[in-house]
Amino acid sequence: MFEFNILSRAKKNKARLAEFNTPHDKLITPELAFVATEGELKAIPKEYIPKLPVNLIIVNTYHLWTKKIVDKIYHLSNGRDLDGNTVHDYANFQKPTMSDSGGFQVFSLGFGKSQGVGKIANIFPEEDQKGGVEVLGIPAARSRELSNPKRALTVKKLRQNLLFDTGNPLNISDEGVEFTFNEEKLMLSPEKSMQIQQQIGADIIFAFDECTSPLNTYEYTKKALSRTHEWLKRCVKYLQINQRTVVRNQNSGKSDKSDSLSSDFRPLTSDFSEKQALFAIVQGGEYEDLRLQSAKFMAKLDVPGYGIGGSLGMSKEDMHNIIDWTISNLPEEKPRHLLGIGQVKDIFDCIERGIDTFDCVIPTREARHRILYTLKGRVNVKKMKNVDEVFDKTCRCAACSQSVTFVQLAQLFSQKDPRAFFFATVHNIQFYTDLMSIIRESIESNKLSSLKDKYLRYYS
Ligand SMILES: [Zn+2]
Repeated sequence: MFEFNILSRAKKNKARLAEFNTPHDKLITPELAFVATEGELKAIPKEYIPKLPVNLIIVNTYHLWTKKIVDKIYHLSNGRDLDGNTVHDYANFQKPTMSDSGGFQVFSLGFGKSQGVGKIANIFPEEDQKGGVEVLGIPAARSRELSNPKRALTVKKLRQNLLFDTGNPLNISDEGVEFTFNEEKLMLSPEKSMQIQQQIGADIIFAFDECTSPLNTYEYTKKALSRTHEWLKRCVKYLQINQRTVVRNQNSGKSDKSDSLSSDFRPLTSDFSEKQALFAIVQGGEYEDLRLQSAKFMAKLDVPGYGIGGSLGMSKEDMHNIIDWTISNLPEEKPRHLLGIGQVKDIFDCIERGIDTFDCVIPTREARHRILYTLKGRVNVKKMKNVDEVFDKTCRCAACSQSVTFVQLAQLFSQKDPRAFFFATVHNIQFYTDLMSIIRESIESNKLSSLKDKYLRYYS
């Protein structure tokens, strides 16, 4: 299980078409995971889920746990199948699923909140749809300048004054992260994250990590990185002890005496589990030496796949550098997931750099904010309220195939009719699944660059 086979490679860059074997069908990559935070895709009735073209979803461990949904999911299995397919039944989705580790939500509640850098999409100020975010008192207009590479020097100087590590409202220790939810004190640790993710039962699970902020100093990022590495070892150990599947080839992982793995530590081999694949998350912020250190450390652990997470810097250029440093130090024959990124241009840029899978709230969240993705760009339904046309003539979604027009959708939105959210969501999902499918075809036919040029006319 969890074999990753590269089927085709682009000639001019690192893009690859591959298949990843999971207990719930083969996942053909590149692919985007749609976010089903609480095991549900917002605005989509569960009975409609099998009709969607979606091939991969990701659920959030933090939300499922704190809102006690994990108990309901686990209950579905009657405890008979600890690492089975419970979330698939709960979500009515019998295809590959992922669960995150909870690390990113913890970041959002901690430095993300106190430093005003918000979620990943907002780390790049120009992406904020309301005209930019205010980062530490820097007005939106100014914060947009931060992402202009020509101003790199100014940005560096400015950032130097912004970096700080104090004021995290959470208590992060080597043990784990302590926080309060509904007046209840909770502790999320590597072991707890693994335990919850086993109960959720997704096909791909992520190691618990400390996600740092772009405003943390080098020193803090370094400290957090060694904690993340220790936590990864604890995640692996927990699975080795608690996985109910047969452990095979325990000692076949690569060993290197010079690394920092302790002598009693056994690498997790690809066929360790038949039911869940653990992806390790490379951290290290925007610092090259830390990213290299992290990627090399994780490459030595023979896990089934890798995620690239944490602070991706302050600009797209930073993000591209981070991906390049990381990927060149990860095994070629393993899948690589980029956490929390999914703008159209980013998808092309990152696939060219060797990313296989993504997860992003953009398609579904923006749909609920009246933003539609079309072949002619991203459009605001409000501005299209007099346009008596379907969203995309070639789209096969439930809205376009029933000839729902912008006029009708704008009206449904203004009446807060739930069908508005449904139509917008199914359309954006169709747009993104079609995009990923055509990207896969283009890698095979070696036409990725021309496809990218075509899309970037409207999504630059
Ligand atoms: Zn459509």
